[in-house]
Amino acid sequence: MGLLALGTALDWPQAKTRAHQVRQWGIKQLLEIWNKAKGKERDALLWGDEVEYLVVSYSEDDPKVLLSLRQAEILTALASDQELAKEGGCVPELQDSGLKKISSNPIPVFHPEFGRFMLEATPGKPWGIGLKELLDVEPDMKLRRKIAKEHMLSTEYPITLTTFPRIGCPGQFTTPYYPNSGPRLRSQFVPDEIANPHIRFPTLAANIRSRRGRKVQVNVPVFHDKNTPQPWKDPTVNFDLHDWPEDDDVRNGAAPDDHIHMDAMAFGMGSCCLQITFQAKNITEGRMLYDQLSPLGPIMLALTAATPIYKGFLANTDVRWNQISRSVDCRTEEELGEKPLKNDRWRIPKSRYASNSTYISTDSRLREEYMDPDLVINPEIKAQLVENGMDDRLATHFAHLFIRDPIVIFEEDLAQLDLSKTDHFENIQSTNWQHMRFKPPPADNNIGWRVEFRSMEIQITDFENAAFSVFMVLVTRAILSFDLNYYIPIKKVDENMERAHKLDAVLKEKFFFRKNVFPSRPSRSTTVVGDDSRPGSAMPSRPGSPGIPVDEEYEEMTVDEIINGSSEGDFPGLIPIVESYLDSVNVDVETRCELATYLDLIRKRASGELDTAARWIRNFVDAHPDYKHDSVVSETINHDLIGSVIAVGERESAGRGFGGLDILGLPRLLGEFRGGCGRKVDDGVSTAPSQPESP
Ligand code: ADP
Ligand code: MG
Ligand code: MG
Ligand code: MG
Ligand code: MG
Ligand code: MG
Repeated sequence: MGLLALGTALDWPQAKTRAHQVRQWGIKQLLEIWNKAKGKERDALLWGDEVEYLVVSYSEDDPKVLLSLRQAEILTALASDQELAKEGGCVPELQDSGLKKISSNPIPVFHPEFGRFMLEATPGKPWGIGLKELLDVEPDMKLRRKIAKEHMLSTEYPITLTTFPRIGCPGQFTTPYYPNSGPRLRSQFVPDEIANPHIRFPTLAANIRSRRGRKVQVNVPVFHDKNTPQPWKDPTVNFDLHDWPEDDDVRNGAAPDDHIHMDAMAFGMGSCCLQITFQAKNITEGRMLYDQLSPLGPIMLALTAATPIYKGFLANTDVRWNQISRSVDCRTEEELGEKPLKNDRWRIPKSRYASNSTYISTDSRLREEYMDPDLVINPEIKAQLVENGMDDRLATHFAHLFIRDPIVIFEEDLAQLDLSKTDHFENIQSTNWQHMRFKPPPADNNIGWRVEFRSMEIQITDFENAAFSVFMVLVTRAILSFDLNYYIPIKKVDENMERAHKLDAVLKEKFFFRKNVFPSRPSRSTTVVGDDSRPGSAMPSRPGSPGIPVDEEYEEMTVDEIINGSSEGDFPGLIPIVESYLDSVNVDVETRCELATYLDLIRKRASGELDTAARWIRNFVDAHPDYKHDSVVSETINHDLIGSVIAVGERESAGRGFGGLDILGLPRLLGEFRGGCGRKVDDGVSTAPSQPESP
């Protein structure tokens, strides 16, 4: 989560009065960066991933699994480990000696996150352009997990589930055990102490609530199983509390029937995801990548689905996205359209955490019809940017981000505008959590224009996380090499984002997707994707497809058709395009084989030959002897699920295959990948904690 400044954080009523100043200074800082960096050329094609973890406290014999609130202690332990620093990492002064670098990359970097039960880790430096370097990603991710684990208590584990299945049930946190609702979140279900104690985080949560005028409402439809009452009333909601004014929310309809009701930022921002940042060679390429990756966001969300449980109940959705969106939705009743506009300026159709609403490229293939005609922008900001020389499209993008108020403002930062910093710009930018982020160069160094792909759900194993990261890198390389065109109307991307939430969307839903990504060639039959040997030569680039009505440019496709292609469809499939790209460049046999194991995972997840994590978890719960088919994920089920996830992680970090682990449904999650490319796989014996019996 963005920058960590220190100082006096303003409460919302005060912050509100300074919002205009922050926006003004933010725009000045943006213009400064833009003027300095708009002509930057030939930046390297670097990229980097971010992996987020939950820290759980688990033991085989104790039925209770807890979320550990020791983020600060763990980060301190990491930071004080001199041996890690010696190895060249950015973490200062590390002392543990058992850690060996396993690639040429410096030691990974660990970051705090919103939840005090979370960690984030990134590579020690961004990855380069080389295809061989893609093979360093998985070992680096494993190293991160290993280092993290070595700085935890023996009962603590870093796991990569998107959400803790029973967060919000009573007593889910380690000691000191916090049972009570606090002044910041005012949640019925979670204490204030689960947010990172750095003042930025509780202030963010409190000011969102305060700006909104009530608590956030994170309502997820419950999954109706055969014994689930209908209508279903969330049995954990207390309608009789009178501690805070916000306790009225549920009496005023905040907790509708058939929905799991959650009321705090932690239920969303406490989720883990997998993000990838790409550096472009210049601003033009960055803007192009931002647009071209946008339509892929919902597809990759559906394909990485991993979030079927909330607050101890099975949900009727598979992904985290909308829950995070609602958990930070600071819109007022006026902005939401529930009251006539009086004090606020705009009706705003989306939360500040949402799919992105504009395209930004100067690409001639970007047709006006792809844009949202109702996009809300801040007209004064746009005018100011345009007056200072920024083109209309980019100015529109930033003027859209700048309809938002800054939520956390530090008094000290308002004394004097510092144009050598980007803090005020980042204040708005980094709290616009869209599924793509266009990242300008920071003021103080020579990093280039970057684009971040943010929709993917974190996967249980590093093998999968590496596979999805590598896949997105290859998709990006293919876009650049073949000058591909994935444009569809941005409103269709929004609609796809909604569809990605549906249960088993990866197999059951269809998504709007462009048929012909090679503009001057009408269909697959005349396109030589797959048997070309030189980059770019098979794919003529310009001009677009004038004359074709926009709504004939795309059709509804399954994720399988989008990823693997189909014999009937025009679109050849992302994997065949990636294969074609790999054919066109020099890759040694071993690298190609290793990459193939990643592409296989993607291919099989899309076709349904393998399960998403969401499907695997659902099947696991369904088959558990303690499950009563009433949508309830009990402490026992949670214990065994987490135990299985830990067992898989331990096995993976020991460098062994997953075979032999006696975990329900595991082969359908991960397949039989680990023996390929001449690698020796020792399946070992089962180390799984107690498991439910197979059905
Ligand atoms: P944020 O949390 O703001 O998205 P982070 O600092 O956590 O950003 O890291 C984003 C990712 O970008 C990391 O994997 C990092 O290695 C990577 N990265 C850093 N510098 C560059 C760069 N110049 N080009 C591409 N990726 C970079
Ligand atoms: Mg993060
Ligand atoms: Mg980060
Ligand atoms: Mg961050
Ligand atoms: Mg990020
Ligand atoms: Mg197929």
